[in-house]
Amino acid sequence: MNDPYQTLLKKVHETHDIEKAIQVLSWDKETNMPAAGNTARIQQMTTLRRLRHHIFTSDEMGELIEAAGAELNGVDYHSREASLIRYLRRAYADERKLPDDFVQRVSKVSGEAHPAWVQARANNDFAHFQPHLEQVIALVQEMADLYGYEDEKYDPLLDKFEHGMKTAEVHSIFQVLKEGLKPLLAAIAEQPDAVDNRILHQHFPVNKQQEFANYIATAVGYDFSRGHLGTVVHPFATSFSRDDARITTRWNPGFLNAALFGTLHEAGHAMYEQGTDPGLARTPLARGTSSGIHESQSRMIENIVGRSLGFWQAHFPRLQGLFPQQLGGATAVAFYRAVNKVQPSYIRVEADELTYNFHIILRFELEQAMLEGDLKVADLPTAWNDKMQALLGVTPPTNALGCLQDVHWTRPGFGYFPTYALGNLYAAQFYEAMTAQNPAIAEDMAQGDPASLVAWLRENIHQHGRKYTPAELVQRATGQPLTPHAFMRYATRKFGELYRL
Ligand code: ZN
Repeated sequence: MNDPYQTLLKKVHETHDIEKAIQVLSWDKETNMPAAGNTARIQQMTTLRRLRHHIFTSDEMGELIEAAGAELNGVDYHSREASLIRYLRRAYADERKLPDDFVQRVSKVSGEAHPAWVQARANNDFAHFQPHLEQVIALVQEMADLYGYEDEKYDPLLDKFEHGMKTAEVHSIFQVLKEGLKPLLAAIAEQPDAVDNRILHQHFPVNKQQEFANYIATAVGYDFSRGHLGTVVHPFATSFSRDDARITTRWNPGFLNAALFGTLHEAGHAMYEQGTDPGLARTPLARGTSSGIHESQSRMIENIVGRSLGFWQAHFPRLQGLFPQQLGGATAVAFYRAVNKVQPSYIRVEADELTYNFHIILRFELEQAMLEGDLKVADLPTAWNDKMQALLGVTPPTNALGCLQDVHWTRPGFGYFPTYALGNLYAAQFYEAMTAQNPAIAEDMAQGDPASLVAWLRENIHQHGRKYTPAELVQRATGQPLTPHAFMRYATRKFGELYRL
């Protein structure tokens, strides 16, 4: 026990196990727990969080990290040990910057904001949520100051989700995306009837949808022997270890997409966690490196694999067999076209592969304006609707369909939204790189077989867990930094063919 690194590792395992216990409680809360259990469950989770925070931010922990760091001085940069020390130094310094009373206020404000938001959205009553959002924004501003920043106030918030990325970089990437997508969307808008998706809006019994969800998740490489599919209102993926990475979905008997693409999306997230190197187990490196890279894995499986022609040529007969009345007269090509229909809409989570990015750009711009104090919360509904009109040419008829739709602003988690669009861009860049390195991947995909694609992800992304920063990982895997151009090439080719542009 005199070996500082081994002593540190023991502490790391301890905090890691507490974190995972919190996640189990949280997963159970969303999937199985009776509503009456809520108060007790929140108390249990709060106690464990406090316990973890105390261990992790203790002076002893800081000394152990430094002692182990000194012991390992000069060890290979790419080793697990060196990565873990780099990660812990950063996480420790960051977590120590938030005083206990601040953490408690976050908990209290968010705890009250969430039910107020649920009610405000149900009653389309923005005024009811407004004072809570004002408190959340005040916390976000305080948090940015506590973390500190050199360039923009938004930087330290973004850094929590996409370490190393700067607001200015996201801004310039989104400018390219905006300018590139606008003419593409305008051309598509000129032929609103070119793609017909009515086939997806029929009655699809849930038990058959479940059967297909299990089948299709396995087909893309999700390992059910180390996984589980549960039912929830707001789908997510979570992992307790690489050998227990769970997914959830929701079932809509009147529309096939929600469960179908939701399951593929969450399977993509969980496959990332299932694929991490076993040597990283019980450390904070045993998970995806950032929100944006995590989202690239879900988008890869949902869109690049799950919304491709080859995939449906391979799997549509199976779906048709489960729903002979609904889909008996359709072809794989018609189904592929239907699931790729582009149409500006109000709700982010229902948006297609192209317009989705504008929903994110809108939120990114509004978050910055509120953070900087340039936009008052009272003026948010108008600002939201103006931007929707400018970016997508539609104006939500109600705030429930506008600025009240997302749960995210009940918590001071500014900086998370942009990672959704970054995920699309990373995914396209990974796909372009892997097919250039190994053309057989594109040929397999044309046959509807993603196995070689998934093998590339395992090798270049999954196994590394959080060993590398997002920028390091992208550079290693694709030979260049993140660029929006791969996504624009992918989108222009795919939707150009679909809409015969
Ligand atoms: Zn996701």
